Amino acid sequence: MSLDQDDPLFDAELDTLAVRAGQVRSPEGEHSETICTSSSYVFANAAEAAARFSGELPGNVYSRYTNPTVRNFEQRIAALEGAESAVATASGMAAILSTCMALLSAGDHVLCSRSVFGTTSVLFSKYMQKFGVEVDFVALSDREQWRQKLRGNTQLLFLETPSNPLCEVVDIAAMSQLARNAGALLVVDNCFCTPALQQPLKLGADLVIHSATKYLDGQGRCMGGVVVGGQELTSEVLAFIRSCGPTLSPFNAWIFLKGLETLRLRMDAHSANALQLAQWLQARKEVERVFYGGLPEHPGHELAKKQQRAFGGVLSFCVKGGREEAWKFIDATRVMSLTANLGDAKTTIVHPATTTHGRLSAEEKHSAGITDNLIRIAVGLEAVSDLQKDLERGFAA
Ligand SMILES: *Cc1c(COP(=O)(O)O)cnc(C)c1O
Repeated sequence: MSLDQDDPLFDAELDTLAVRAGQVRSPEGEHSETICTSSSYVFANAAEAAARFSGELPGNVYSRYTNPTVRNFEQRIAALEGAESAVATASGMAAILSTCMALLSAGDHVLCSRSVFGTTSVLFSKYMQKFGVEVDFVALSDREQWRQKLRGNTQLLFLETPSNPLCEVVDIAAMSQLARNAGALLVVDNCFCTPALQQPLKLGADLVIHSATKYLDGQGRCMGGVVVGGQELTSEVLAFIRSCGPTLSPFNAWIFLKGLETLRLRMDAHSANALQLAQWLQARKEVERVFYGGLPEHPGHELAKKQQRAFGGVLSFCVKGGREEAWKFIDATRVMSLTANLGDAKTTIVHPATTTHGRLSAEEKHSAGITDNLIRIAVGLEAVSDLQKDLERGFAA
């Protein structure tokens, strides 16, 4: 959302934008944002209806096109990412699909990080390929490999940094330069950091994508997504959403608005808890290795420190042994939730090799570093001492 100089939020800090950006009060004067549940909107006369339909006159027509509560969420997240505009979608996958449908054509080539959300790689390798889009997967932090795999028809570079679950990172500014030189767009899935910790557009990315289902909501209540960036690109995505329908529900948009108000506080707390647990795990003799960007030993530590405000809530570690030991460990915990979800106030624990990364072949798992003794924790907002007690149950097993 580009703000005018006379807008009271012009130049406002992230904390202020998170609480106030995008709100338009109705004549009722409500303090908190309301939910607008109307599917369609009434026009003053036939001429106005014609002008709104043609787009000559701005304003609402139908909630597949625009909705005041959804727009409020879009403007707030755009302000937080420092973007001109944002388009909300029914889920994070709908945001990625809509971006692909709007910006790719048969014959285009996509370079995608090997370490992306599992369903994202299915979207590219199964569905995009089906429509004639060629896809190559690249090791996230190997910039030379990205450069080598570029082709004349490369239209889009897609990545997540830090990655799930090993917290690999890549230099967003360098990647955006690489994309620009190749005449391609850089799309960053910023789900793990959120704008509270990292703002890829300011580092040169063309579009940012979120699964709002995760940290933007922050309490595991509902699904949604958003595509954020310049007006020109997001209006292409909006045109697809209007025609094809993966629209965000106003109720979910309202939940995300409330979630954004506490985003930075939560991200700081997730990060502080995760760092403390990572250090504690690293000192355990039963642990082979801990993967967390906040640890100086992590290969991505310096870069993460440079391009992120903090290191986020997701960490992983290898216990001594194999699958059996990892499963026993997980099954012994009683406070943490055994679920693949993340970005929740409740800490979650999962065995990537047999769940989130289960569809990879043994060879793919090996090259991606997803070993059988690897456990991922998405650290929530509970007291660290209680999480440690829970992990002690795992070690005892
Ligand atoms: C969950 C997730 C998605 C998909 O989002 P949904 O809201 O589940 O559709 C995309 N990217 C990342 C990094 C995710 O964690």
